[in-house]
Amino acid sequence: MMSLAATRTPLKPLEDALNALLAFAVPLGTSEMVSTFDADGRVLAADVVAALDVPAHDNSSMDGYAVCSSDWLNASTLLQVNQRIAAGSSGTALTPRSAARIFTGAPIPDGADAVVMQEDCTAAQDDSICIAAAPRVGQWIRRRGEDVRSGRTVLYKGELLAPESIGLAASIGFDELCVASPVRVALFSTGDELVMPGDVPPADMKPGAIYNSNRFFLRALLQRLGCTVTDLGIVPDKLEATKAALAHASGLHDLVLTSGGVSVGEEDHIKPAVQALGQLNLWQIAIKPGKPFAYGKVGQAHFIGLPGNPVSSFVTFLLLVRPFIRKLQGATHLAPECVAASAHFNWPRADNRREFLRVRRNAAGGLDLFDNQSSGVLTSAVWADGLVDNPPGQTIVHGDVVQFMPFSSLMS
Ligand code: AMP
Ligand code: MG
Repeated sequence: MMSLAATRTPLKPLEDALNALLAFAVPLGTSEMVSTFDADGRVLAADVVAALDVPAHDNSSMDGYAVCSSDWLNASTLLQVNQRIAAGSSGTALTPRSAARIFTGAPIPDGADAVVMQEDCTAAQDDSICIAAAPRVGQWIRRRGEDVRSGRTVLYKGELLAPESIGLAASIGFDELCVASPVRVALFSTGDELVMPGDVPPADMKPGAIYNSNRFFLRALLQRLGCTVTDLGIVPDKLEATKAALAHASGLHDLVLTSGGVSVGEEDHIKPAVQALGQLNLWQIAIKPGKPFAYGKVGQAHFIGLPGNPVSSFVTFLLLVRPFIRKLQGATHLAPECVAASAHFNWPRADNRREFLRVRRNAAGGLDLFDNQSSGVLTSAVWADGLVDNPPGQTIVHGDVVQFMPFSSLMS
């Protein structure tokens, strides 16, 4: 068992904590087949290799006429329309000085090397057409294999599947995909002050009681990452109860995730409980919000303790738990999107911890700051659409370039 000194240990920089956390997150390596319909948001567990060309044949990208460009001599040249090729059917080879009526997606007949849009053709006598300008070889033809070549890997193991990727998999005939099995997560909240919405109406809340909000967003965040969540509810602020909940949760789960009780107060029992049952490897990170954070192992299960303050809990989930879970799923790309943006606010008081400020993009291409950055103010997270990653000791002046992380990439 590893013991960490309580108060004097310097807080761990976020990047060190993240690296350590990801080193512990050995991919689970379990996979399952799911319908391609259901694969959005899952991590691919095997490469997807094309067994055919897409498109499978040269085909028309317009409604019009397939022609042989050398048959055209001038705007009076008559071409006999002697066949009709719709999408899903196939034609016969063009005879000299003929044209095939053709529709979008239909295969180009042998002998044709261009398609002329119907708008550029005029009907002449006896089912013939004239074409105003010389057809250019290849015009309005989509080439066989121009999207995907047979034998090519189109999606890679470790990739996070998106709607467009499942469409691409379907385009090469995959009705099922091999994806990482869901990570099994046990979730519980600590805090004797916590009340579940629905159990007590707002008017009857006792002094000091608060509704359990963390349970709701943590479960939702886990579900967005495709986890199977066992919600163990609220655990009282007692060492024995905390140990019992941890011991129970660690069986049959890959990860035990808790919120609250991870500081050094007398009512904070997470740290001693984890140390009694397993090991604590990480504790406290130099970020704001989110200093109280713990990682350890209880039995075979990973343990992560998040802070109780809702915004701290939310932000540490986004920064640390999301990549941890994605790594367990075998995802290869773990870093969230981080882009330079212009601060349309001042932040005059530097903090010695790295800060994650709740901000929102404005129509002028800059970032506005929510006026209350307290770690208990969940309204800030709802108002915001991302975080500014502000280095330790850094003040910000209106117009400064800062690093912006959109929530969209921190939650997927
Ligand atoms: P703790 O980390 O347990 O000391 O809690 C820090 C602050 O977060 C306290 O004000 C708690 O009341 C609050 N808190 C803890 N857990 C939750 C929760 N599940 N939902 C909302 N607030 C919480
Ligand atoms: Mg507490």
